[in-house]
Amino acid sequence: MSETGRVALVTGASRGIGRAIALRLAASGHAVAVNYARSSEAAQAVVERIQAAGGRAQAVRADVSSPEEVAKMLETVQRELGDVDILVNNAGVIRDTLLLRMKDEDWNRVVEINLDGVFNCTRACLRAMMKRRWGRIVNITSVVALVGSPGQANYCAAKAGILGFTKAVAREVASRGITVNAVAPGLIETDMTGQMSAKRRDQVLQGIPMGRIGTGEDVAALVDFLVSEAAGYITGQTIAVDGGMTML
Ligand code: NAP
Repeated sequence: MSETGRVALVTGASRGIGRAIALRLAASGHAVAVNYARSSEAAQAVVERIQAAGGRAQAVRADVSSPEEVAKMLETVQRELGDVDILVNNAGVIRDTLLLRMKDEDWNRVVEINLDGVFNCTRACLRAMMKRRWGRIVNITSVVALVGSPGQANYCAAKAGILGFTKAVAREVASRGITVNAVAPGLIETDMTGQMSAKRRDQVLQGIPMGRIGTGEDVAALVDFLVSEAAGYITGQTIAVDGGMTML
């Protein structure tokens, strides 16, 4: 593991896709702040795994929907690892139900975490990136933002909001050497998709040309590239990692 001197903050990195991204970025030599909301032991386990391999990492708790908690988290990251060069907005939740049965709370919580969380963390990290005239921001959206999904109006709206946000901010900061891109996973094996019924999984699987469910590592490989020096001329894009499910 060679040190790049860059600091990455990955939100929702205690489990699933975020965990795979944190491990991959650490393997590429970045120091990694492992954000979580509740799973402190799982986040600490990710940190210990990175440290055991010779990397630098720190677990940081914050509910990304709270601007105050995000500000405090960034103070900790700055003190322990340094200013954030690479931000991966990955934290997300689902509260699936058909629209007619959707409660205000189901709508609000999904938008607050999946969309407001991206705004809170991006705004909090941007000033330091602009000063250094270098930065990488990757927002994890979903293929359902592109094609829709019944029972997920709240989630689809929040994830589609991320696409507009990504393009607007990409235009604002391009001249400062900062890229902003979105990654849209298809069906990936995590706790989130573990809640799906076997019938629904089979249905989705039928629509995946590659014939398999994706892994966190499939997503992490793209994120690792997008935050590299080599991807410095790619900005404002949405790239799907979905085994060919959408091909838009
Ligand atoms: P997951 O296994 O359920 O993990 C979610 C992660 O987000 C956990 O680390 C969790 O932390 C964190 N989190 C939840 N609420 C948070 C909050 N308020 N503040 C900070 N962190 C919070 O989910 P996943 O499947 O890996 O999904 C990761 C991202 O990919 C999400 O944005 C999701 O929408 C997106 N995505 C997933 C799929 C898929 O098929 N899995 C497909 C498309 C897009 P705790 O452990 O502390 O709760």
